[in-house]
Amino acid sequence: MAKLLESKPIAEKIKEEIKKQIQALKTTPVLVSVSAGENAGAASYVKSQFKAAESLGIIYRLEKLSQDISEAALIDFIGKLNADKSVNGIIVQMPLPAQIDYRKISRFIDPQKDAEGMHPANLGKLVFGKQAILPCTAAAVMELLNSTGIDLYGKEVVIVGHSEIVGKPLALLLLEKFATVTVCHIGTSKAGKLEEHVGRAEVLIVAVGKAGLIKGEWIKEDAVVIDVGINRVGDKIVGDVEFEAAQARASYITPVPGGVGPLTATMLMRNLVEAAKLQQ
Ligand code: NAD
Repeated sequence: MAKLLESKPIAEKIKEEIKKQIQALKTTPVLVSVSAGENAGAASYVKSQFKAAESLGIIYRLEKLSQDISEAALIDFIGKLNADKSVNGIIVQMPLPAQIDYRKISRFIDPQKDAEGMHPANLGKLVFGKQAILPCTAAAVMELLNSTGIDLYGKEVVIVGHSEIVGKPLALLLLEKFATVTVCHIGTSKAGKLEEHVGRAEVLIVAVGKAGLIKGEWIKEDAVVIDVGINRVGDKIVGDVEFEAAQARASYITPVPGGVGPLTATMLMRNLVEAAKLQQ
């Protein structure tokens, strides 16, 4: 029966380190959240970010722009935040209205204020393995793995999901630890090979957004299972992995909710402090 890998105790430990770093900064860091229009999903992320900031004494400023803002006006707004010396970090909340291309927008955030670690310059630095500002969810997964004490050197790690915010940056971070990394995605499923790859995983990380995609019986005995997926099923939130059946086989497994999610906001705050240090 797998041990539960919950993020709260890990987040508390990291928060203590962040507090020390904030004291050393001798200034209160300021994070600005930019959103365009209303979205219930984004509102819940904003709430958890606000709580994480508040618990660390970080100033979290909300900038709510209109649903019909143009791309040019949003870029202009970000430019002003870049130029404002009192602002240490910027996060542009997803989803954005249809007229705005997030990939384009992410290029206009000053890389030294990129609290999410999604500017192409910061993502590019991941290739060299020397990066202080990391994509938050990928960083949260690395912290969860670290907490198990597992040595990733030479381990068979299978990631399911190849998104820009989770799967791709994680693959680079894991390679830095000399893990043997396989990245699966929709093409793997369509080729009928998902079960085969998942069954080899000593460490399995799933970030797809499909409840029950990963069957418990596919999991290798004693695997470490990190479920990043968030799915609403009726009135419950579940991950992408069949939890009970997977828990019976794995050595560690993250619950959903309570696994990766709560740590992501802490990683955002850690990035903010790294950004503030770079600016000093
Ligand atoms: P995305 O939609 O950008 O990418 C989905 C990935 O899943 C793609 O690589 C796609 O090819 C793959 N995929 C789709 N169907 C598949 C199938 N049948 N078999 C195998 N692969 C398949 O997703 P994302 O933004 O990375 O988010 C993934 C999930 O993680 C979502 O549930 C999201 O809510 C959750 N998420 C959680 C956090 C957190 O902090 N806990 C952060 C980000 C995302």
